[in-house]
Amino acid sequence: MSAKAKALIALEEKYGAHNYHPLPVALARGKGAYVWDVDGKRYLDFLSAYSALNQGHNHPKIVAAAKAQLGRLALTSRAFHNDRLGPFLKLLCETAGMERALPMNSGAEAVETAIKAMRLWGYKAKGVDQDRAEIIVCERNFHGRTTTIVGFSSDEESFANFGPATPGFVKVPFGDADALKDAINANTVGFLFEPIQGEAGVILPPAGYLKKARRLCSTYSVLMCADEIQSGLGRAGALFACDHDSVKPDLYVLGKALSGGLYPISALVGRGDVLELFTPGTHGSTFGGNPLAAAIGEAALRVILSEKLPERSAKLGAGFLSKLKTLNHPKLHEVRGRGLMMAIEFTEPVQPLVEDLMARGLLAKGTHENTIRLAPPLVINQAQLDAAFKIIAAAVKAFPQ
Ligand SMILES: *Cc1c(COP(=O)(O)O)cnc(C)c1O
Repeated sequence: MSAKAKALIALEEKYGAHNYHPLPVALARGKGAYVWDVDGKRYLDFLSAYSALNQGHNHPKIVAAAKAQLGRLALTSRAFHNDRLGPFLKLLCETAGMERALPMNSGAEAVETAIKAMRLWGYKAKGVDQDRAEIIVCERNFHGRTTTIVGFSSDEESFANFGPATPGFVKVPFGDADALKDAINANTVGFLFEPIQGEAGVILPPAGYLKKARRLCSTYSVLMCADEIQSGLGRAGALFACDHDSVKPDLYVLGKALSGGLYPISALVGRGDVLELFTPGTHGSTFGGNPLAAAIGEAALRVILSEKLPERSAKLGAGFLSKLKTLNHPKLHEVRGRGLMMAIEFTEPVQPLVEDLMARGLLAKGTHENTIRLAPPLVINQAQLDAAFKIIAAAVKAFPQ
């Protein structure tokens, strides 16, 4: 590593809180599926900022939209209307096949918005007694880092020392429809889930699970809320991961690739009768839905649609996954994935493998010690994927047996 990179890393280490453990690389530039470090070394980006970069780094159309808006009007607050929000919301709702959307900034804020929406609907529409609403969540979930959200995490690192937890959440195993049924009672207002559990290590739902969950939610009048912040917008080889099971939830939580990585943009998108229950003063955000965000979000969605990124992800992902499945190593436990949302699970910590991949020019990150997630930008091309497979195969071969 150069002195320059070392110095930059040292600055972060000295002045930043150590709430992350980044790989020792300092990046300075990105384009498509590539990033370059401060010394000019090129890497394939196989993390895509946890899937915020489905459209690739600095997609020219999204950058152009941002530049056109910058210097014109960036922030109005929602105290006034602006000329960008309406068109963005329209495209977002039409794309999701939903009636209304509520724009926020980070993913966690959109999840918080979903929690408030489900509770509000429970009291106003379902008739649950005040302060009795329950939301069912899944074990090993990841929905963000706010106090309420980490309060229903089953990951010790996430919740320990941040209590007391917000009440009103019930955990069930992901993939177990009977457990979901047993957890539903008269106070249940929502079922919040990831259709593919990303941070848990790309855990796919068992066949038929989401369909059963849909039926249970409809039967018992429970809102089905899919957190597609990571799995959605093409990542898993469909516009939404729920599409693989032909399931339409009542609410989608979106974020990450909703901006193509240029800006924090998130939204709750869903049924009109649910979102209509918010009235002025009951929810908001100073930056949520600002004109710059709306311009970027609209462009980011148009790229996903016009470049058919979900179809591209399905096709390229299927090819890549079948290649990964040819890898052989005594400590390789499982290769799994859907679209370009993939993971290799080993029987021991993958950190040395992650560092070797970096040295060979591919950036990826371990999740939960033994699993390495592989999620390149969806604009990646076949030649780049072939190069990535060569790197991964060589690193796996060199991984101590
Ligand atoms: C990343 C993520 C979030 C949180 O988004 P932030 O923008 O980091 O707050 C929530 N849910 C899922 C499934 C995610 O992957």
